[in-house]
Amino acid sequence: MGEATIIDGTAIAAGLRQRVAEAAANLRDRNKIAVGLAAVLIGDDPASQVYVRNKARACAEVGITSFEHRLPGDCSGAAILELVIGLNRDDRVDGILVQLPLPRGIDPAQVTAALDPAKDVDGFHPMNVGRLWRGEPGLVPCTPQGVVLLLRSVHADLSGAEAVVLGRSQVVGRPVAALLLAADCTVTVVHSKTRDAATICRRADILVAATGRPAAVTGEWIKPGATVIDVGINRIAAADRRSRLVGDVDFAAVSRVAGAITPVPGGVGPMTIACLLRNTLIAACRRRGLPDPL
Ligand code: NAP
Repeated sequence: MGEATIIDGTAIAAGLRQRVAEAAANLRDRNKIAVGLAAVLIGDDPASQVYVRNKARACAEVGITSFEHRLPGDCSGAAILELVIGLNRDDRVDGILVQLPLPRGIDPAQVTAALDPAKDVDGFHPMNVGRLWRGEPGLVPCTPQGVVLLLRSVHADLSGAEAVVLGRSQVVGRPVAALLLAADCTVTVVHSKTRDAATICRRADILVAATGRPAAVTGEWIKPGATVIDVGINRIAAADRRSRLVGDVDFAAVSRVAGAITPVPGGVGPMTIACLLRNTLIAACRRRGLPDPL
C-alpha cells in the first residue's frame, strides 16, 4: 500500500469561506441585508473566550456582523433565557450561538430549546435534530457538516458506501450518522459498549472517528483504500515537555493503509467555523424567504 491522499481541510475551508464572503457581499449589495451572528458567552472559561474571539474574527473576514453578549458565570438561568429571547426577536441577528460548556448548574438543553430554531446555527435545537433525522431541510451541526464536505471532496457519490462512525455524541457522532444515512451510506455507529470495534471498522469504506481517544484507531482497523475522517482533537504531552494536538487516529500507521485521510490539525477543525459562517448565511436567507445561497 502507498501513502494515502491527504484531505486538506484548511484549503477546503478557505474555499468555503470565500464563497460565504461572496454570497454575504451579494446579499448586502443586492438585497441590503447585513448578515449578523450573535455569540453568547457565559462565565470566564479561557478556551471559550478564545473560541468566541476566533468566531468574531472569522465573521469579520467574510463580512458577517458579529455581536458578543457576556453574562457572568453565576448568572441565573432566567437571565440567560431573557437574553436568548431578546436575540430571537432582534432582526439584526440571523444566527445565535451559545458557547458551550455552560457553567455548572445551567441546563444546556433548556437554553438550546429556547433558541428560535431558524437562528440555531449550531443545529442543536430539537427541531433541527428532528429535521436532520427526518431528512428535511434544517440547520445542520457544523462539525458533522464539515465531515461530509470533506468526504464529498473525495467521493462525488457516497451511495451504498459502508460507513462506520466511531462515537455517538449529540455534537458529532449522531449527526454524522444521520448525514451519512441521508447520503445513502450503510451506517454503523460504534460506541464504548461495542464489542470488537476493530472488526466492524475493517468493513468500512468510510470511517469517521470521534471518540476523543488519542490515536486509538490503528492501521489494523482500516480496510485498504478506505477514507478516514479524524474528528478528534486531543492535546497530549510531547517529549520536549510541551504539548501537541493529535487526532483519534494513529495518522502515520493509518495513512499507510487508507486511501484518503484528514490530518490533525488541518482536517476537520478548520471546517467547523467555515460551516458556522455558512449556516449563518443560510439562516439569513431562509428567514427572509430567499433561496439558499450556497
Ligand atoms: P464525547 O461527547 O466525549 O463522545 C465520545 C464518544 O466516543 C461517545 O459516544 C463514546 O461512547 C465514544 N467512545 C469513547 N471511547 C470509545 C471507545 N473505546 N470505542 C468506541 N467508542 C468510544 O466527544 P465528542 O464531543 O463527540 O468529541 C469527540 C472528539 O472530537 C474529541 O476529540 C473532540 O475534541 C473532537 N471534536 C472536534 C471538533 C472539531 O471541530 N474538529 C468538534 C467537536 C469535537 P459512549 O457514548 O458509549 O460513551
